[in-house]
Amino acid sequence: MFSSPESRLDQLDQVSRHIEAHQEEFVQTLKDWVAVESDSVQPLPRLRQEICRMMDMSADKLRRLGATVDTVDMGAQQLPDGQSLPIPPIILAELGNDPQKPTVCFYGHLDVQPAAKEDGWLTEPYTLTEVDGKLYGRGATDNKGPVLAWINAVSAFVALEQDLPVNVKFFLEGMEEAGSIALEGVLRREKDRFFSSVDHIVISDNLWLSRRKPALTYGTRGNSYFTVEVKCRDQDFHSGTFGGILHEPMADLVALLGSLVDSSGQILVPGIYDSVSPVTEEERAMYSAIDLDLGEYRNSTQVERFLFDTKEAVLMHLWRYPSLSIHGIEGAFDEAGAKTVIPGQVVGKFSIRLVPHMNASTVEKQVKRHLEDVFSRRNSSNRMAVSMVLGIAPWVADIKDNQYVAARRAIRTVFGTEPDMIRDGSTIPVAKIFQDVLQKSVMMFPLGAVDDGEHSQNEKINRWNYIEGSKVFAAFFLELATLHE
Ligand code: MN
Ligand code: MN
Repeated sequence: MFSSPESRLDQLDQVSRHIEAHQEEFVQTLKDWVAVESDSVQPLPRLRQEICRMMDMSADKLRRLGATVDTVDMGAQQLPDGQSLPIPPIILAELGNDPQKPTVCFYGHLDVQPAAKEDGWLTEPYTLTEVDGKLYGRGATDNKGPVLAWINAVSAFVALEQDLPVNVKFFLEGMEEAGSIALEGVLRREKDRFFSSVDHIVISDNLWLSRRKPALTYGTRGNSYFTVEVKCRDQDFHSGTFGGILHEPMADLVALLGSLVDSSGQILVPGIYDSVSPVTEEERAMYSAIDLDLGEYRNSTQVERFLFDTKEAVLMHLWRYPSLSIHGIEGAFDEAGAKTVIPGQVVGKFSIRLVPHMNASTVEKQVKRHLEDVFSRRNSSNRMAVSMVLGIAPWVADIKDNQYVAARRAIRTVFGTEPDMIRDGSTIPVAKIFQDVLQKSVMMFPLGAVDDGEHSQNEKINRWNYIEGSKVFAAFFLELATLHE
């Protein structure tokens, strides 16, 4: 089945006009979905019922499009207080299974963060309300709007009785905001079944870097979290009685923490930069094309000066270089007043954001060796114990993969601009889990603007992002099919 670029453009034109003409319906559906209080964060039976109802609504919607829908029962969750709550089902749906076409699977979640008017919402959080082209409501951008945009794109082809250019699968869950419990288990179980024919996985659950310029996300940093304990004895001391004759645990700890990073942000652990992948020319060009006004960013974050004063350096140190942050000290005297205590034992906490191709267990060895070295030079009689309590690997995708090429073309066609090629400085476990468990190409294809306020009061998605986003997904299907031929 060969179709010329002209006929693809013609097809996209019809689909786009259909989406444009039906936008009120699409906004109404988003309104119906936002009206469901599918909050997974508060463990309340009533809210779990609401999430289950939300999952049913999405399953119905997909069935009406002609999809085969499987509702996977997830059993119950035992809470520490003895309560047992149902885990909302996961929806596995598929539309089309033509072996000649590429198969793309969309991951999304239909649960939301808590929201209440009295937290400072200007509108009712569960009533989608439009003000100046902005659709306010809990879940509008995270993640109900983007899930519906994907469904809208599919529904336009179906309504026009046009052949879907790709096979489409849906993987929808209702516990993302509660840590996606049980997600990994389902992925492992379905790896050789539901996912066996999947070529590409798309997640649309983050935001652009700007208000108007689209973006594609191709990587996230990982994290390794450390504790370092310095102990003299169980009890604290009085500085009038013991001050001057002790190796004080806090002094040891401050020296240890102070040895980790210098004032320019450089990590001082020997060997830590050895495996960080070098910057390529192509990468450098991508960074300079990104739409970020550093002055505006400084103002909006209320930071007078960053460690770096060019856009490129700031973004590279957020996304593609490791960073070390010191988080806190357990056991320290941290209240107001002038207590003359000498803590008997203290625990320092810090973490290192990992980037390709750093390895958490190598980093663990390097950090331990470094701290042991610093500690031994202090000749202290205290005991030190270092442990890495968390090690999450970084994720980076191959942007030469067909789906990145198709998405860039689709964005160019619909938005008339090249996307910002971005990464995320924090860890988005779901992308990494999909990549690791399924070994498939993963792409994050956000629709929301930087000021959408996910998780905060007055969350919104712009009508423009929602409707053009529906079109860009349709264009993406057509581009992906073209590349596959
Ligand atoms: Mn989300
Ligand atoms: Mn969220």
